[in-house]
Amino acid sequence: MLDNLPPPPTLPRVLIDFDLFDAVLLDLDGTIYHEEHPLPGAVELVRRFEAQRRKYACLTNSTSSPDRIAARLQRMGIALDAHHIYTAAAATVDYVLQTFTNPRIFNLATEGIHEMLDGKVQWIEGEEDPCDAVICGVPLSVYATDERRRVAMLHVRRGARLIGICADRVYPSPRGLEFGVGALTAMIAYAANVQPVFCGKPEALFFDELCHRLDVAPGRCVLIGDNLESDIAGAKGVGMKTILTLGGVSSREDVERLPPAARPDWIIDDLTKLL
Ligand SMILES: [Mg+2]
Repeated sequence: MLDNLPPPPTLPRVLIDFDLFDAVLLDLDGTIYHEEHPLPGAVELVRRFEAQRRKYACLTNSTSSPDRIAARLQRMGIALDAHHIYTAAAATVDYVLQTFTNPRIFNLATEGIHEMLDGKVQWIEGEEDPCDAVICGVPLSVYATDERRRVAMLHVRRGARLIGICADRVYPSPRGLEFGVGALTAMIAYAANVQPVFCGKPEALFFDELCHRLDVAPGRCVLIGDNLESDIAGAKGVGMKTILTLGGVSSREDVERLPPAARPDWIIDDLTKLL
């Protein structure tokens, strides 16, 4: 019966008054850019938000730091200051610093995690050292050698918290799909028989930490993203309004398969419809 309800409207040009919201959240991959190119309307929309001095943030489940993402966007011709970027790695850093006092951390993740936490935590290397938490990234990371995975597993078995930067099962690469952060985290969680904490989209933790940073209430935000699971469901879960852009992962047919309550508030073909 639910299938007979009309899908959410596809917007003609404009119509969303961003002044009704305290902040606009934009997904990055599949919304702002694809591979190494900005998507239609992205550069102009960001420029417009800057000119309007609007509060906005760009989100990604990347295991890298906002600084590194800003540099990458710069190379694509998207001028975006790092303080407008929130990555799953940055959410992980916020979580670690809020959860532990003088944390002792084993980094199974990235250089970006090292840069953001260096000087604020004690890095653990040996398998005998007391450890509060293991931060887990993708299996291909230079930080995730076989030996380091084994040491990380031992720490978690002895009580260190297992923190996955995000729960992504896979991610796209030039040669196809690669194992994601969620896959390596699940391997260690299984071996240690623990439940990991995940910090990226679609976790409420991610959106709550971001709203805390922006000093806005989730219910006063609108999110624009291309992924029904990580963007739309995550944002709806904390009470945000949502706009699905069709340039990336999810299609109109995917939306029509969802119960009405899980559908985005609006659907657009691409970001030019918001200009
Ligand atoms: Mg995306």
